[in-house]
Amino acid sequence: MAQQRLTLAIAPAQVYRGWQITAEYMPQSRTLVIASPSALGLLQTLSLPDTCRMALPVRGCTELNLAAMLAEVQKHSPTWLVGAGGGRVLDLAKLVAYRADLPLVTVPTSAATCAAWTALSNVYEESGAFAYDVPLPCAPQQLIVDYALIQKAPVRMLIAGIGDALAKWYEASVSSGHSDQTMIIAAVQTARILRDLLLQQSAEAIATPGGKPWQEVVDAVVCLAGVIGGIGGADCRTVAAHAIHNALTHHPNAHGALHGEKVAYGILVQLRLEEVHGNQLAATARQQLRELYRSLGLPQTLADLGLGHLSREEQYNLAAIACRPNSDIHRLPFTVTPTEVLEAMESTTSATTSKAAVESAS
Ligand SMILES: [Zn+2]
Repeated sequence: MAQQRLTLAIAPAQVYRGWQITAEYMPQSRTLVIASPSALGLLQTLSLPDTCRMALPVRGCTELNLAAMLAEVQKHSPTWLVGAGGGRVLDLAKLVAYRADLPLVTVPTSAATCAAWTALSNVYEESGAFAYDVPLPCAPQQLIVDYALIQKAPVRMLIAGIGDALAKWYEASVSSGHSDQTMIIAAVQTARILRDLLLQQSAEAIATPGGKPWQEVVDAVVCLAGVIGGIGGADCRTVAAHAIHNALTHHPNAHGALHGEKVAYGILVQLRLEEVHGNQLAATARQQLRELYRSLGLPQTLADLGLGHLSREEQYNLAAIACRPNSDIHRLPFTVTPTEVLEAMESTTSATTSKAAVESAS
């Protein structure tokens, strides 16, 4: 049998965690900082080394911004890059670091995704629509989890991060739950632990920002969620929850909702699809999650995402985008059609479909 060669980009080489530690761990040589406008404001209040230069503030990971940042790299010839901001700016910084072959420090200023950890960049079109992802050969060299910076972000960001992190279990267990490979089994089980931690601690974390449970939930969302993609590798893929997210980004009005909020809704759509295909565990999980969503204020319906006014045709178009041939929705263990996805999108809050009803329909 031919020897298969697998490369994993598991984690940053160093992860620093603590309060007000950003300045302390900044690189001491010529550094270019790629930051969002708000992250730039935060960094300017710190006493950073004189060797840090700020690039023009950026908001998203688009090809235009990539070209602009590569030009800044050319101009300043730094030896290190720092990316500071939310997921999209960190995705951009990771892509710039890869293209310019420079080491990178990520400094998340919110805990809305695990982008600060992972070896993956999502690229978006200028309109905000998801375009494609770029798997990177390595994770950022260093990650600074500065709780003092993250606590300044609106609490909504962490709530969205919880939604994004919850998806790890619901997606990895479907895409890789039957794997017999050591690392993938570990990734899926880690996703289960992550879900359990979030179910247990999220409400308290949100109620007391800066407290112990809050710090644990930040670690869960920024770090542990990243570990799962790291050890699971390319096989431990997203399924319908992120496919629904990606489809929703194609509607201009969906941009008011955060990544993790759309993913959270996508989890309910995925569970609903599994449920109508006879999975009773999915039915139970959906009701359990709805309770958590209610307590945290995570969206359960299109209306909660600001998309309640869509015509049926617009909704169908989004369902059809989610069902495009290369979509991860096809990792579900059954085939789905846009009509079925549309029905699931509309029934995320419905009562559980009983087994008898499923059987009589099939
Ligand atoms: Zn995500």
